[in-house]
Amino acid sequence: MNHVADATTLRQHDRSHHLHPFTDLRDYAAHGGRIVTHAEHIYIHDAEGNRMLDGMSGLWCCNLGYSQHQIVEAIYRQLQELPYYNNFFRCANQPAVELATLLAEVTPADFNHVFFTNSGSEANDTNIRLVHRYYDLLGKPEKKLFISRKNAYHGSTIAAGSLGGMKAMHDQVRGLDYVHHINQPHWFAEGGDLSPEDFGLKVARELEQKIDELGEDRVAAFIAEPVQGAGGVIIPPDSYWPEIQRICDERDILFIADEVICGFGRTGEWFGSQTYGLKPHLMTFAKAITNGYIPLGGVMVGDQVAEVLLSQGGEFAHGLTYSGHPAACAAGIATLQTLRETDIIAQAAAQIAPHLQSRLRELADHPVVGEVRGRGMFAAVELVRDKGSRERLAPESQGAVYCRDRANSNGLMVRQTGDAMIMAPPLVSRREEIDELVDKLHQALDETARHYGVN
Ligand SMILES: *Cc1c(COP(=O)(O)O)cnc(C)c1O
Repeated sequence: MNHVADATTLRQHDRSHHLHPFTDLRDYAAHGGRIVTHAEHIYIHDAEGNRMLDGMSGLWCCNLGYSQHQIVEAIYRQLQELPYYNNFFRCANQPAVELATLLAEVTPADFNHVFFTNSGSEANDTNIRLVHRYYDLLGKPEKKLFISRKNAYHGSTIAAGSLGGMKAMHDQVRGLDYVHHINQPHWFAEGGDLSPEDFGLKVARELEQKIDELGEDRVAAFIAEPVQGAGGVIIPPDSYWPEIQRICDERDILFIADEVICGFGRTGEWFGSQTYGLKPHLMTFAKAITNGYIPLGGVMVGDQVAEVLLSQGGEFAHGLTYSGHPAACAAGIATLQTLRETDIIAQAAAQIAPHLQSRLRELADHPVVGEVRGRGMFAAVELVRDKGSRERLAPESQGAVYCRDRANSNGLMVRQTGDAMIMAPPLVSRREEIDELVDKLHQALDETARHYGVN
């Protein structure tokens, strides 16, 4: 296909017929967007002929980049053998069984069961169903409430959006009345004069207060991402997770770790829960399980919950037509095999992540940078006009929007969330590609500083 010749028509049809997710629809219809045509390794190409370093791994999912041909071939082979069959009504297919077995091996020891979905959102909906079923079977049907955190992201179905704490989403949908939110551990934005450690303890203890306020006999579960991704790569203060884990240990509630971004190597271990020493009862996964090549998500169900679910008869009245789709599961198997055989998670953690984090820390002295934070293979750079007061560059995050646009024009795909630039490059990035990412970001920061007259 001639990418350049087709660009104009494609863009026109896109604007005329395609409603885009998380997009200003009127603005898009007027101006259109970037049509990505092909990709290799960690570079994407668009219909206009631009080549960009993908500093976001797609949407936090292509952790191994775009050239994993064995995953593509696994999907193709499976489609030829058995393109579809469901897992309802006492049936199974081989890839679903094999992937379930592999997942039990690569997750922490007390995770031995999986429920498959097509996405992280559906997996978090499934969490609600599983948790409610668990307490019903235990004879505690009054335990129905969920506690989550403001600015969390757990997906965009009504249930997952309710579990999340994104204000813009809550403004547009009436959420579930059994989900309650506490503050997030975002020290730079909300810590004020407290030290990070004191702030971490303070917001962690809100969980305890919320449980007491709602009644422990009514609270079912607490859900959290080990590191909030979409919220802005929010690395909690070191005091935060031990205190949350203490509270979860002391109270009769379930702990759900949403590993949709952290899972499969992003934080340096297989799962963010391992990086932070967390002991969840349930883990949500999606995105990188297939390296983003085909939709798949699910819930890893820990033994404590699984034993109860399996202890009594009666149907678990929940499922999706494509739960355990053979082609998606084949992609999952190929991805997990690649992760195991190449040792890429450990290599990225030992070599590339330290390089990314130390090169980014060099930007901390830049006049418009208020904070650089990150862990493993993701990071955020907070933009400010004044470092001391943390005053922002411009209202409504326009400073970061400007910086994002400059970075994109310079051939770097990174995102803006609030007043932060966020990035999550593929684990397979090479040292010199990390240098390219940081240099291009630096250039965008310089252009932003000039634009806003900060020096
Ligand atoms: C992306 C994401 C989800 C939602 O996954 P979808 O596949 O988009 O439904 C849920 N939780 C977290 C932490 C995510 O980043």
